[in-house]
Amino acid sequence: MSQDNPRIAILGFAIECNRFSPVTTAADFEQDVDIRGNRIVSEARSGASITMPDLPGFFTEMDRTGNWTPVPLRVSLAQPGGPVEESFFREFLREIEAGLKAAGPLDAVFISSHGAALAQGTDDPDGDLFEIVRRIVGPEIPVVVVFDLHANVSRKMIDNISVFVGYLENPHTDIYERGVEAAKHMRECLAGAKTAITMVKVPIVAPQISLLTAKGPYADLIKYGQTKVGGDILNVSVMAGFAYSDSPKNGLTAVVTARNGNRQAAADLSLDIAGRAWGMKDRFKRAMMSLGDAVQLAASVGRDRRRKPIILADVADNPGGGGRGNTTYLLRALRSAGAQNVLFGVFNDAALAAKAHQLGEGAIFTASFNTEEHQEFSLPFDCQAKVVKLSDGRYVGRRGVLRNVSSDMGPSALLDLGGIQVVVISHRCQCMDPRQFEMFDLDIAQARVVVVKSRGHFRGGFDEFFKPDQIYEVDCPGLTSPVLANFTWTKLPRPVYPLDEETTWMPPPSA
Ligand SMILES: [Zn+2]
Repeated sequence: MSQDNPRIAILGFAIECNRFSPVTTAADFEQDVDIRGNRIVSEARSGASITMPDLPGFFTEMDRTGNWTPVPLRVSLAQPGGPVEESFFREFLREIEAGLKAAGPLDAVFISSHGAALAQGTDDPDGDLFEIVRRIVGPEIPVVVVFDLHANVSRKMIDNISVFVGYLENPHTDIYERGVEAAKHMRECLAGAKTAITMVKVPIVAPQISLLTAKGPYADLIKYGQTKVGGDILNVSVMAGFAYSDSPKNGLTAVVTARNGNRQAAADLSLDIAGRAWGMKDRFKRAMMSLGDAVQLAASVGRDRRRKPIILADVADNPGGGGRGNTTYLLRALRSAGAQNVLFGVFNDAALAAKAHQLGEGAIFTASFNTEEHQEFSLPFDCQAKVVKLSDGRYVGRRGVLRNVSSDMGPSALLDLGGIQVVVISHRCQCMDPRQFEMFDLDIAQARVVVVKSRGHFRGGFDEFFKPDQIYEVDCPGLTSPVLANFTWTKLPRPVYPLDEETTWMPPPSA
């Protein structure tokens, strides 16, 4: 083993899949991130990477702590969406397999993952990937993986890796730090540490809006887990999972990685955390505001400058959970109510953005929303509009989840609908960074009402303008509705709480 200069394979496969959304294609990965070889290294060391921030975090810490040689293979990321096109996923696996075989002797593998993927032919693509990696590199090579806390964890996933590192924060403002943490564990593994991973799953599939980590039941669980890190406990990850994957893997899962092969310590702690989660299950329910109440509130706040400005979160159309970012329920209702001083972002409609670019700044026209996409919830809407400003949609995030991340919304336009200013984009994404408005010279501090297509990550980007008591989650129809009874589940293990009130759970004899 080349201990003074370890060779570490670098790869990434990250997508959060919503069973109810349209299939995620090769073109979707191409539009987001699908890079190979040295491009991966240059992005990770650029200071404004297009990848997830765990990769730059991992590189920075590895660079700081000694010699190493990255062996970059492929990093493929796409916006949350439907199950991944089977041909793309199979081809990805083949390329990783061939790349690992051709790489020569490797000392370790780092994987930037998400953990809630689906493909058309498998409900556990992440597990399939790790199994292939393990088979090729053998049982002794450290495989360190970073996961989103929305990962749906399987036995296959944990049995084929050495260290499991899950995000601790939601909004995910700690992704970079988790990459740094992964590098520390990597150094320890390279120095000979032997690890053991255990998991315990409980039948809790919580609505995504009840999984914030500033406060609440999930915050308490994660905090408790972190008090146990140290000694033989290397990492504690409490994975809430992603409901809309509708997969057999769904369910809140406590995952513990132990040092010194101390499987018993890991097993005891994962069981302890799972039991605590079950004990607080009632706290994972959360109420929303009705559309009617939200619009009434927005209209009055827009008129009365003495009242605090507000954010309305269109949580049921969150592109960050597979929503299309183009439902018109809120837009239409705000327009009918004559709401003023509203910023609305970001609306995914490439055809409308192209039309605005064709007409040019200053043009007044009838804006037709959703002329090209006809999903169940993507209803058409026509409205008089003025093209205020155009943009190529490229920016580097400045706050929260996207801080120092390079993003591309595609050709974009700011339209004024008479008191409602809408940012229309071409590449589907959620609204979570102030730059998505500021690139159009909009001053968020002056807005009375901001509407975001986002479930919760906007909280990390907009917290300098809005405190939690100024945020309202609105109950509209959509592909990411927190009302789980709205969906026809096919693979979710039932009964599951809170969907099925009568759900029971008995702790297993061991993890
Ligand atoms: Zn997540």
